This record gives sequence, structure tokens and C-alpha cells, in this order.
Amino acid sequence: MLKKTDGNKYIGAHVSAAGGVDQAPIRAREIGANAFALFTKNQRQWAAKPLEAKTISAFKANCRMLGFTSEHILPHDSYLINLGAPEEEKLNKSRAAFIDEMERCQQLGLTLLNFHPGSHLKKISEQECLTKIAESINLAHQAVPDVIAVIENTAGQGTNLGWRFEHLAEIIDQVEDKARVGVCLDTCHTFAAGYDLGSFEACESTFAEFDRVVGMHYLRAMHINDSKSALGSKVDRHHALGKGEIGWDCFEYIAKDSRFDGIPLILETIEPEIWKDEIAQLRRFHLEAIKESV
Ligand SMILES: [Zn+2]
Ligand SMILES: [Zn+2]
Repeated sequence: MLKKTDGNKYIGAHVSAAGGVDQAPIRAREIGANAFALFTKNQRQWAAKPLEAKTISAFKANCRMLGFTSEHILPHDSYLINLGAPEEEKLNKSRAAFIDEMERCQQLGLTLLNFHPGSHLKKISEQECLTKIAESINLAHQAVPDVIAVIENTAGQGTNLGWRFEHLAEIIDQVEDKARVGVCLDTCHTFAAGYDLGSFEACESTFAEFDRVVGMHYLRAMHINDSKSALGSKVDRHHALGKGEIGWDCFEYIAKDSRFDGIPLILETIEPEIWKDEIAQLRRFHLEAIKESV
């Protein structure tokens, strides 16, 4: 059963941090968002210069002024990082870069860090890779206090792990500080990985499965994307809401169900010029549910 929403929805998009991270909250505000995601450094480079004190204070001031709080801001790490890398050198480099990402979050007063779990590259077993990922999270927890590692499920493209809910559960199982680990479910990735979201009924059973295998209490964020690729295709191609293979039912379901209240719901859809409309439509669904429930 749909658990009727009674709380607040925090809806936004992954906005650009061009010109400095302090610009991201301003861009989020422009599209009517009350949540947002961002990169705190260039996501395609290993090295980044440290955040400047004036950028940090401008970021915090803008977030305060525009009403964004840390639990609704979802920084995303670099695409180069592989926390399950089979080779020692790449693994160490990834772990150091991940710790740097966490430190940047902490400097910005942020408490979530969203990342893709890792890839075995056909050189080690899935089990070994999942264990390396969990160890990487444990090391980062030891190095940086307060920041929660938010594992994103993947489409299962190539040798990426984290596409089955069981992978997420196995990683979490091996993380020592359970209070600082969570999951970000990406609707496009979930669907491409083979979990149907194409109707209310399909959403019911997919989220029930997630609850059974991982636990709904670990859900700390969502990426709200339609999918260009088919159910179970293992191909990660985002689409604008309602224009892809998933369709509006799924997004209406999420907007109306209370289990998705209070966490950042982030668009990574492919037409930034209509983010404002996509957010507005999700808010209309949410308001409808609130009206129906009183
Ligand atoms: Zn995503
Ligand atoms: Zn994706």
C-alpha cells in the first residue's frame, strides 16, 4: 500500500558548481528546488585544489540565506574513484581521493557523500570487490568524522557492482559504523538493473524488495530519472521524466509516498531547461496526496 505522504518533500537537481560551489545553491533556488546535488571538485580529475576559506563561507551563507540544510544537499564524488579496485595502486589512489571528497564535505558543513560503489574489472570476484568497497568506507569513516557514505545503486553497466540490492546489503553488512552508511536509489539505475518501476504495483513490489533485502531505513536519498533504456538492459541512459521507459507513475508514486519524505530527491534528467517544470509536477503530486489524506 502507498503510505500517504504527510511530511515535506525535498526536491531538486544536480546543479552546476561552475564559478565555485557557492553558486550551486543559487542555481538550485532558480529552479524552485529545496534540495540539490553538486560536485565539490571537477568530477573528471583526480587532483583538486583545496576549497578556499572565502568559498566555504560563501557556500554556507548562501545555503543559510536560501534555506538549504545539510540533510537535503547531496554532494557526488568523482567518477574516477573505484573503491573496489582490484589493483593496489588504483585502490589506494581511490581511497585517498574519497577521503579528500569527504573532507571537502565536512569543510562545507555537509553530512552526505553520494558515490558509486566500484567495479571488479573482471580481475577479482564480486565478493572480494564488495569487501574492498566496505573496507574503503571503513577507512574513510576513520579518517573523517560525521559524513555519511551514501552508496548509489548502479545500472550494472560493465563490471560495476551495486546493481543488485544484495550487493548493497553485503557492503552495509561489512561497514562497522552503520549509522554513517546509507543508500541512494537512482530510479533509472534500478529499472535498468531489472527492477520494474513502470506502475504503482511495480513500485510497490520493488520497494518492498528493497526493504526486505537492504531496509528502507538505509534510504538517505534518491536520484529521480526516467530511463531511455529498457527494463533489465543494464544500460545507464537517463531521460526526462515521463519521456522514457519508466513513465510518470513511478514519480507520482514517490511524490505521494511518505517513505520518500525528508530525503533529497534529485533530478539528473537530461533537459536542465525543464527541471523547473519537473520539480513543479512532482510538487503537484505531493500536494494532491496531502489533500487526499485530510
Ligand atoms: Zn544517479
Ligand atoms: Zn546514471
